[in-house]
Amino acid sequence: MLIYFDDSYTNFLKEELVMKQQETILKVKIRMARECPKCHSKNLKEVQDKTKVVAYFNHQPIYKKKSVCRDCTYEWFPEGGAE
Ligand SMILES: [Zn+2]
Repeated sequence: MLIYFDDSYTNFLKEELVMKQQETILKVKIRMARECPKCHSKNLKEVQDKTKVVAYFNHQPIYKKKSVCRDCTYEWFPEGGAE
């Protein structure tokens, strides 16, 4: 038995999935804190927390981003997620 998927339908699903993932990435970026909650330094860097997978894109995991203060080394999730 052959299962046939209409190309336009599967493309639509793919596009919707990509849009949702881009939206998630965008939201995370917007919510990135611009200063350290501890010392209020703006000398921050963004790193990926490899223990936290947000989504998969083309079989590649998208990791949750966290902010790290270069001054006091404090780490936090800008969107207020669990640590
Ligand atoms: Zn700091």
